[in-house]
Parts: sequence; structure tokens; C-alpha cells
Amino acid sequence: MNKNLLKKIALLNQTTLDSLAEKNSLTIIKNFTEAGIKILEADFGFGWWKFHSKEKYKLVYKSPKTPYEPTIPRNHAGNYIARKTKKPFFDSHVKKENYLFDIDRYLKSYAIVPICYNDNIYGNLVLCFKKERIFKEEDKELMVFLGNVAAQAITTARLVEKERELVLMENTKRLLQEEKLKTEFIANASHEIRTPLAIIKGTVDLVLMKGLSDTRMLKVINHEVNHLSKILSDLSLLITDTHKVKNKTSFEPVNVLKIIKHTTNTLKIIAKQKNISIIFNKVLDVFVLGDQTSLEKLFANLIRNAITYGKKNGWIRIDVIKKKNTVEIKISDNGIGIMKKDLPYIFDRFYRANTSRTPESYHLGLGLAIVKSIALVHKGNISVKSEVNKGTIFTVSFPIFKLN
Ligand code: ADP
Repeated sequence: MNKNLLKKIALLNQTTLDSLAEKNSLTIIKNFTEAGIKILEADFGFGWWKFHSKEKYKLVYKSPKTPYEPTIPRNHAGNYIARKTKKPFFDSHVKKENYLFDIDRYLKSYAIVPICYNDNIYGNLVLCFKKERIFKEEDKELMVFLGNVAAQAITTARLVEKERELVLMENTKRLLQEEKLKTEFIANASHEIRTPLAIIKGTVDLVLMKGLSDTRMLKVINHEVNHLSKILSDLSLLITDTHKVKNKTSFEPVNVLKIIKHTTNTLKIIAKQKNISIIFNKVLDVFVLGDQTSLEKLFANLIRNAITYGKKNGWIRIDVIKKKNTVEIKISDNGIGIMKKDLPYIFDRFYRANTSRTPESYHLGLGLAIVKSIALVHKGNISVKSEVNKGTIFTVSFPIFKLN
């Protein structure tokens, strides 16, 4: 192969690489028009492009030395034919017609190169010469090659662009979803805080207006202040747990059995009020890597729920099952149970299953969201099984920490 041809092919390859780095159809056409001008030693050139399959051609690039504003390729002088076939069209002696088109006025010869890929013709490159030129076989082959690689570069660039758009869309969707959750969370939290504040304000106003010094009123205020501090402590726990996902500095080996025993003992008083017995099936000590206070909160929430949603004279059973690498803790009760339709949502913030069946007062639907977030921070898992009027089983599992 002669050196000159190799140089031309190298230039085309480089153009393809440069074009792919640019990833934009119009820049790619510009690059290939310039490459075509260099390869054929043309005086000037321009590129036509169809943005959609049914659309007409639009001029998308003309080289700096183009002496006129090119018009749409027309029936005349073979342009039309070139646009409809994959083969390039060459005119070595432009005939001077009676009607003067620019193409006749400024050129003696030209080549039209279809930009074509898989039978689709996307556009044309037009390379123009001020002098007559006989096109050699080698020139013709190079022109076909030029059109094909330009089309391939554009197709690849479009695929990359589409992929990038998809990623962008996914990211936007995720951000919108996060934003929605945040807004919902703030709306719910402020709603929860507004009610006790309104009661406190109303009671204080009444006391001030009537000049009362009534302990009944103080009790109402006290009750609502307790309510508020419960909401705030739950909210701050949710925030600190999320924070701890990134910063697990307080983690140390903790004995799960000790934690459950301690939590059960502190909750026995409330269980007694409903005459609920707590059965604890102990095993040998088992350690997990974690934060003692958070884990206490996790078990306290699950056992307190079992009492709250348990029946009078009922029972709660706690099983600790040691497996090869994990420990499973099952907290079962024979309480009111959870309806199937509520099960997928009970770990959501502020979700309360069937409020008509559950006791009112301090229940915000934050407890299980906190439990889940603590479990996840500890690389654990939580699941629930329940049947209405029969009972509920919450299963939490953690990786075991092996003490040497
Ligand atoms: P809450 O503060 O309302 O108890 P949780 O997030 O702890 O909030 O629980 C969400 C909902 O799940 C509760 O409102 C209740 O309807 C249901 N639930 C939780 N634990 C139990 C259980 N052991 N038995 C029946 N229902 C339960």
C-alpha cells in the first residue's frame, strides 16, 4: 500500500477517535468534513444532516473557505441520486447550465459522500473543487470509507449520549424521591409536634385568662410536655442512627443476652399491668459488634410493642437462636396482630397500622423505623410475620462477633 494512502487512513482513524471523544453528532460531521477536504485536497466542503428519518436535510457545517451559502441538494447534477444511494457521487466536469446555481458558479468538480450506516443514510458530506478533477478508484473507496466511519462514530456517540441521559434520569428520579421523603418526614414531624403544642398553648391561655392555679391544668401540660419530649427523643435518635451509619466509632463487642435480659427486666412492670408473661429462652452468651445503647433501644421498642399490642393475660416469647455466623432473636406475642396490607409499611416512619385497633397516646409510628435503622447500622436484618388476632413474630438477626 502506498504511503500516501496509509497517511489518509491514519487521518481517518484519528478523526474517528477524536470525534468519539467529542460525543456530539454535529462536531463529528465537522471533523469528518475537514478530514475529507484534507484527504481529497478539496478547496472547501460542507455537511448536510437529517436529524430525524422523515426530516429534510439541514446544513450543519460549512468549512471556513466556502464562498457561498449552500442550498439544499437538489435534483440537479446528481445530488438527489447521491442522497438516495449508499454510493458516493462524483462529478469531474460540472456542466454550466443556463440557470446559474452557486454550485455551477464556484465549482468545476465535486464529490458527494453519503453518511450511511446499516442502509440508513443520515446525511451527506459535499467536497468541492475549484478545478476539474478526475476521481481515482482509490479516492472513491476512501470516500465510501469516510462516510461509513462518520456514520459509525455518530451512532456510537448517540448510544453513549443515550446511556448518559439514562443515568442522569435515574439520578434525578432518586433525588426527587429523597426530596419527597424528606418533605413528608418534615410534614409529619411538624404535624406531630403541633398538636401537643396547641394543647399546651390552649391550657396556658386558659390558666392565664381565668387566673387559675389548678393542678389539673398542670397535669395536662405535663402530659403534653412528656409527649413532646418523646417525639423529640425519637426524632433525634433517627437522625443520630443515620449519622452512625457513616461513623461507627462507638462500636464494641456487646453481649446480646445481657442486653435483652436488662431490657426485659425494665419492661416487666408495664407487662404486669396487662398481666402479660415474658418467657425468655436463654442460650449461651453471644456477642455482636455494636452500640450498647442503640441495641437496648432496639429490643426495648420491640418488646414494648409486644406489650402494647398484646392482649391482657397474654404472653411474649423471646428466643435467641445461635447459627453458624449469625444470631437470630425472635420476639413473638399472641396479641392483636397486623393486617397483611399493613405489613409492607410498618417499618416506614410515622406508619401506624390500623389506628382504630391500636391504643392512642404516645404511639407515633417511629419505633419500628428506629428499630430497622439500628438493625441496618449493625449489618443486621429485621423481618416480621403476623396474623390478625393470633399474634406477631419479629425476627432480628446480626452477624456474631467471635471472641478469641
Ligand atoms: P408505634 O409508635 O405506633 O408503636 P411502631 O413503628 O413501633 O410505632 O409500630 C408501627 C405500627 O406497627 C404500630 O402502630 C402497630 O400498628 C404495628 N405493630 C408494631 N408492633 C406490633 C405488634 N407486636 N403487634 C401488633 N402490631 C404491631
